[in-house]
Amino acid sequence: MEKDKGLLLVLSGPSGVGKGTVCKALREKMPELIYSVSATTRSARVGEEEGVNYFFKGRDEFQRMIEQDELLEWAEYVGNYYGTPRRFVADTLASGKDVILEIEVQGALQVKEKFPEGVFLFLAPPDLSELESRIVGRGSESEETIKSRMEMARTEIELMDKYDYVVVNDYIDTACDKIKAIIAAEHLKKDRQ
Ligand code: 5GP
Repeated sequence: MEKDKGLLLVLSGPSGVGKGTVCKALREKMPELIYSVSATTRSARVGEEEGVNYFFKGRDEFQRMIEQDELLEWAEYVGNYYGTPRRFVADTLASGKDVILEIEVQGALQVKEKFPEGVFLFLAPPDLSELESRIVGRGSESEETIKSRMEMARTEIELMDKYDYVVVNDYIDTACDKIKAIIAAEHLKKDRQ
């Protein structure tokens, strides 16, 4: 990564792990961090604002953005499309500021293909490392449940290996502090190059 460019930070992880909450808390602690606002076809929830939480798009408009290569990555998640506008990320990095993307795992892997120099953070649930041994251990769960849980754990663990850092989301504050430390270390690393 070029010295005078900002860092591209990607915060991802399995659904329900609390990416949104951690990202919000981190941005409060680090207001210098620029948040990439995603485009989505899902409807706005109460309290969400256009251009702040998301850019809310119709499916045709989203399709057009894909075709015109305006998105750095995109994915379908629970019936809706989500994507990262490419131009904003490129311009912000070029201006020397750090950008953070809070996105699901399929999208994060696409970004990694295009920006291997990015910093990829996987937010993990607190009990993931114990999950497999717990599942195969003396349990009272049905074989079917064990099987699907094992599959999920395996997929998550496999994906975890593709990331630069795994941060356990035990307490929001602790997770934020770890991410802050990672960002500081990555800056030192970049400055030496
Ligand atoms: P929600 O609908 O709850 O705001 O977000 C659903 C999921 O989409 C979350 O896991 C969130 O991280 C992810 N997401 C939000 N924006 C993007 C994006 O631009 N690209 C991808 N791939 N996922 C996104």
